[in-house]
Amino acid sequence: MNSKEIIELGDKYLMRNVGRLPLAPVKGEGARLCDADGNEYLDFVSGIAVNSLGHCHPAVTGAICRQAKKLIHCSNLYYIELQVLLARLLAENSGLDKAFFCNSGAEANEAAIKLARKYAKLKHGPEKVEIITALNSFHGRTLATITATGQPKYQKGFEPLPGGFKYVPFNDLDALEQAVGPATCAVMLEPVQGEGGVNVPSRYYLEGVRMLCQEHGALLIFDEVQTGLGRTGRFLAWQHFGVKPDILTLAKALGGGFPIGAMLAVEEVAGAFQPGDHASTFGGNPLACAAALAAVEEMLRGGVVENAASVGAYMYDKLKALAQKYGFVRDVRGLGLLLGMELAVEGKAVVSGCQEKGLLINCVNNNVLRFIPPLTITTAEVDRAVEILDQVMAGVKL
Ligand SMILES: *Cc1c(COP(=O)(O)O)cnc(C)c1O
Repeated sequence: MNSKEIIELGDKYLMRNVGRLPLAPVKGEGARLCDADGNEYLDFVSGIAVNSLGHCHPAVTGAICRQAKKLIHCSNLYYIELQVLLARLLAENSGLDKAFFCNSGAEANEAAIKLARKYAKLKHGPEKVEIITALNSFHGRTLATITATGQPKYQKGFEPLPGGFKYVPFNDLDALEQAVGPATCAVMLEPVQGEGGVNVPSRYYLEGVRMLCQEHGALLIFDEVQTGLGRTGRFLAWQHFGVKPDILTLAKALGGGFPIGAMLAVEEVAGAFQPGDHASTFGGNPLACAAALAAVEEMLRGGVVENAASVGAYMYDKLKALAQKYGFVRDVRGLGLLLGMELAVEGKAVVSGCQEKGLLINCVNNNVLRFIPPLTITTAEVDRAVEILDQVMAGVKL
């Protein structure tokens, strides 16, 4: 099928639950993505921070092909060798101790919320149930995680929402100090907000959050679904700030493109889950774990995280230079290869202008261009992307 045929069929048979761009990708390699008409794109979206090793990294595709011939699925009624090895690899590199595997970021956060509630009830009693999250956060699309998400636009129309959630402005320690209390079970944050506009908090803030949690016997949950696994130029974003959470969630890049999520916790907290408390049929199945093991090993060994840090800094400087050139750029911010450019105008036209010229980027919060290329991206590819962006921005009508 060509792109037009795919798009027409999609409009007929798919629910319109997401706004799709008229593009039908059929293959990819590294930072290149090809559509059904043979057009090539430089991919600075990476399946929304999923393809951190680029498309079809040979280590990941090799692991998937080998494992698919051996054992695809067997159930968590049994012990799965690759799941055990993946749990150990994550424990050894995250500062947390134990893992639960699922299939997505939302599920990982659901598991985190359940574990926090269970732990708080066992340790402190039945009243300690409240989860505090940040405005402009994003934690997923299930009912509990849209409730955790501090953005009314994701909640509207789906009420009644589960109870026990409270919101505070991000990066505002005084507001959190006002909100925490004896009923606070956990504070759940993205160490850098992704969907909410690429918002980087101060170290002072996250250190303060940690202290407030300690004071009130509340757990600190970091949602590193987007920031984790090298995206910010460290293996995990918490390592930038020296603030280690009690529970940490991962998904997006974890499987090198294969769906898998994880919820990690420190030993004491993890112990609150007893057999029967939580489960997922597919979670951590052999095929998903083979993909994730290969992906995470490649991230740790291959200089991938270091590349994200250095090329991220390089790209940040390039975007700053564009900000000097165009008066409608309000701000450039981010960490590593999670970068955002806030505009004084809507970003939609820039996104489609870039697509026409062969560059894929996306826009969050209406006016923040987000750049989340593969972590293996080169400075030459960044130069090309910024050149296209420059051309498109030159044509922006104010
Ligand atoms: C994408 C994302 C999620 C949701 O992940 P899904 O796999 O889509 O459920 C949760 N938290 C953050 C920070 C994300 O970026």
